[in-house]
Amino acid sequence: MTSPDALPRALDVVVIGGGQAALAVGYYLRRTGLTYLLLDAEDGPGGAWRHGWPSLRLFSPRQWSSLPGWLMPPGPDEYPTRDETIAYLAEYERRYEIPVLRAVTVRGVHREADGLRVDSSRGDVRARAVVSATGSWANPVLPAIPGAEAFRGTIVHSAAYAGAASFAGQNVIVVGGGNSAAQIVAELSSCAQVTWATVTPPHFLPDDIDGRTLFEQATERYRAVREGRPPPPARSIGDIVMVPSVREARARGVLTAVPMFTAFVPDGVVWPDGNSATADAVIFATGYRSVLAHLAPLGIIDAAGRVVVDNGRAVAEPRLWLVGYGEWTGFASATLIGVGRSARAVARAVELDLAIPTGA
Ligand code: FAD
Repeated sequence: MTSPDALPRALDVVVIGGGQAALAVGYYLRRTGLTYLLLDAEDGPGGAWRHGWPSLRLFSPRQWSSLPGWLMPPGPDEYPTRDETIAYLAEYERRYEIPVLRAVTVRGVHREADGLRVDSSRGDVRARAVVSATGSWANPVLPAIPGAEAFRGTIVHSAAYAGAASFAGQNVIVVGGGNSAAQIVAELSSCAQVTWATVTPPHFLPDDIDGRTLFEQATERYRAVREGRPPPPARSIGDIVMVPSVREARARGVLTAVPMFTAFVPDGVVWPDGNSATADAVIFATGYRSVLAHLAPLGIIDAAGRVVVDNGRAVAEPRLWLVGYGEWTGFASATLIGVGRSARAVARAVELDLAIPTGA
């Protein structure tokens, strides 16, 4: 199937998004007889990875960073770079001829008697089923900290971090205890004065435990829960993987975190002991929430900013499915290796629901 130039008036399935989650859904929809199209707000392939900072390194090893059907190709390092990931997703889309219309922003999904109406920047399309796969990158979380409005320096989320150059020579505080914060501290520490602040001490994985082990442990826990066995203890998927840049920063002795500051003052921050320190910039690597504003017209987003789903299907709107986002839509659904399982289940459920015989 090739990508159309214009938006059709009606389709069996509209997939909102064009990142890895949407592509995985597209991969499985190819095998059905359904008409479908991905609508993606980006100018080109790659989803959120297009907005990652240039030195961003995945914490999942190459083979564990792959979508269904085709492994990420070998490269010079075990951990893929941002650009390798974008190239892989672009090639995946081309290889499987997944139809994507860009750049199209979905503004709202509305109930109609015979399906859902998807209101987009290119007009309306009617769909018998909608799969939302819009990720979380466009919804960064910034904690509310007293005094922030008076701070004269720069406050930025890691979603908008574009590399170390603009912070050279500055006093920078990096906030957050996960992989993003560790990688940004590692990069900035070569050209800026960096302080790393975390709410709880960061947890580093041993050098010989990589992202693959995390996924294996998580999968074993998932199986155990499904089979009613007590789950084995597992390390957190948010633990810091010692990718090369982080190891190198540790060797330089710059990977030491301090307890989180309590407030901003105009020229810096206040530490828990009451002392203040100047800062030119604070970078918050403090996570994301799901991007769901386009589903607001359906009135199904709960107080936690999620939709109640049963195996990916919205309980309050059964013509809608959600893939990606986080564990709440499916086990490891927000990872490259894990999203295939959710996508397969959702594509199958959509196919059964629309009761069209398989084409392949
Ligand atoms: P996205 O990649 O965000 O794609 C969503 C797409 O939907 C985007 O193209 C967006 O433009 C589009 N969109 C959004 N709203 C609309 C709309 N209204 N209309 C049309 N289009 C819309 N996972 C791993 O497996 N391994 C890793 O090492 C790893 N590292 C990570 C590092 C960081 C810093 C982060 C933030 C995440 C990491 N992840 C990793 C998690 C996950 O793989 C990524 O977040 C991934 O981008 C999620 O893919 P997605 O397709 O769900 O969402």
